[in-house]
Amino acid sequence: MIRLEDVLKDKRTVAVSGHVRPDGDCVGSCLGLYLYLTEQFPDIHVDVYLEEIPEAYRMIQGTDVVKTQIPEGEVYDLFICLDCGDRKRLGFSEPLFESASETLCVDHHISNGAFADINYIIPDASSTSELVYTLLDGEKINKSVAEALYMGIMHDTGVFQYSCTSPETMEIAAELMRKGINSSEIIEKTYYEKTYVQNQILGRALLESMLIMEKRCIVSVIRKRSMEFFQAQPTDLEGIVSQLRQTKGVEVAIFLHELEPQKYKVSLRSKGAVDVSVIAQHFGGGGHVRAAGVTMKGSSHDVINNITALIALQLDQGERQDEME
Ligand code: 5GP
Ligand code: MN
Repeated sequence: MIRLEDVLKDKRTVAVSGHVRPDGDCVGSCLGLYLYLTEQFPDIHVDVYLEEIPEAYRMIQGTDVVKTQIPEGEVYDLFICLDCGDRKRLGFSEPLFESASETLCVDHHISNGAFADINYIIPDASSTSELVYTLLDGEKINKSVAEALYMGIMHDTGVFQYSCTSPETMEIAAELMRKGINSSEIIEKTYYEKTYVQNQILGRALLESMLIMEKRCIVSVIRKRSMEFFQAQPTDLEGIVSQLRQTKGVEVAIFLHELEPQKYKVSLRSKGAVDVSVIAQHFGGGGHVRAAGVTMKGSSHDVINNITALIALQLDQGERQDEME
């Protein structure tokens, strides 16, 4: 366990950043920590760097001061990397990581290779926001910090549903609720509420999905031309793969988003029998046992074939083990 006071000792400038295409946990952990540091350590100058934040998360305080570009020549005493499994996933803020005097990584991705100077990586934790909470003095957490961390935990646990939700997760969520946050509103506005476009593109993905591998996998592809037709942004696709996984009987959901011809962002979700982080890592990506992602080149058929071959291996191995027991 690290102590935040020790890491911050003698530091005058701190940058906080997370992964590309920031999700709820990334935004929640970065802003929760940023808001806490600016209030509790007024002598330290803190900046937070993230790619454009999805509209739904903008109810969290501080989203308006997030920097989306790095100023030339800026060098920080400390760079804090949150919810980011490898340094490449920092995206545009990676040069700040490289140039900082010291780096700290707080993360819960099983694929994290401990790439910073100081690493606080707990793969069993529900979310990076939960880990950030454990680094803070609970009594000093104000309502804005609580809102940010609550949003992060709630997102990565699928509203406290996924198996990563531990009793400690619920205890932390309870503590955050005691700070006076409007938890129902945060859940509704940042998790469930969808724009018309988001619902339309979800509908398209569900309509065109296919069951494969004897109905043990479901796969769907959204092409660039559909994105253009619906005038959808990449952030509008969040949640589609989770919906696919909810299909009765399937073990794994595979969702492909065409970034450019012959290049796909792949999202994988498992119900537990298949470790999708291993599959994502095999192709250069990463994530968790039940949720992982990777960017892959080739036709959609090639991408799907390559992934399903590895899923089949794991499913067959599992079946053989069941027979032996
Ligand atoms: P999603 O499918 O929602 O993009 O990502 C699922 C999980 O896998 C998230 O925890 C995310 O951080 C991780 N992930 C997604 N894409 C990549 C990738 O290209 N590389 C790595 N290392 N992790 C990824
Ligand atoms: Mn996370």
